[in-house]
Amino acid sequence: MEIHFRDKPRMLIGLPRLVARLPVNSVEREEFEQRYQRIQVGYSGELKVDDFLESLNLPSSTRILKNIELSLEGGQSFQIDLLVISEKYILLFEVKNIAGELTFESNPNQLVRNLQGRVTKMDCPVTQLLNTKSYLERWLKQRGYSISVMSKIIWANQQAFIKVAPENASVIFMKEIPLLLKALESYPEIMNLKDIEHLIESIKRHQVVYNPFPLREYFRINEAILKKNQLCPTCHLTLHYVNHKTRFCSNCQVNVKTDYEGALQDWFIVFGRTITSKECQEFLGLSNRHQAKYAIRTTGLKKVGKSVATKYIWPPDKPFK
Ligand SMILES: [Zn+2]
Repeated sequence: MEIHFRDKPRMLIGLPRLVARLPVNSVEREEFEQRYQRIQVGYSGELKVDDFLESLNLPSSTRILKNIELSLEGGQSFQIDLLVISEKYILLFEVKNIAGELTFESNPNQLVRNLQGRVTKMDCPVTQLLNTKSYLERWLKQRGYSISVMSKIIWANQQAFIKVAPENASVIFMKEIPLLLKALESYPEIMNLKDIEHLIESIKRHQVVYNPFPLREYFRINEAILKKNQLCPTCHLTLHYVNHKTRFCSNCQVNVKTDYEGALQDWFIVFGRTITSKECQEFLGLSNRHQAKYAIRTTGLKKVGKSVATKYIWPPDKPFK
């Protein structure tokens, strides 16, 4: 069994930074906090399933790919939570980590959740699964693989009670995965090891890198409402400049060490793809261009363009923290 990639979703890195830069008590702040919670719950479900699969000791020829984003000719892109590839099957898993009492309704398909008396309607995961499955089959066909993909929704939340399951039995609990995989072992072979390696290479080559940054643009947020400069790590208030090494939070009444790298990282997550030294000076509330150049240099930003057109980008090989 070999496992390939799962990066932390960029939204989970970016949303807390966006929230920090939005005014306290704003509608937007609350909305993005909730969005963050939802993505975090989904991601922790995926990690739970990852751990479970790793503990299963599947045959060495089995390949597991996580968090894949591919695009079809024509531009339509689709995202896969988990793909299990073996000599006998390609199995697509959509992972859900939703708690509560759940009813799958049909005509039209939707999921109704009752969580401690609060009823919410959600997009149906079965519809989502079937769409992804058809996209993946089309993607495989475009590359000469005429394979029908099997698909299941894995419910990773043990606090869920599925009151009415979808008609086509496409939902299983995480603990049922071994039984499902065992049943599939009796299927005839559809690929040999070489085919599997080729397919994996092809998937890796065609991965679309999903980048929602800068979030201001992605969510069309009015820049004027966003807090600039270095923020207090505790209360997210804009810090005051004391000297080049120190800032001060008037709310917490403490000195904070200057952190150009952290503030400039926020720039690239929230504000823009590039920064000029003038923009940097304004953003960090510095009194001259010389200090801005110093902040750019110590952060290790990459220079693009020449003379008056000089701009800087976040180094492509430097991960956001
Ligand atoms: Zn503070």
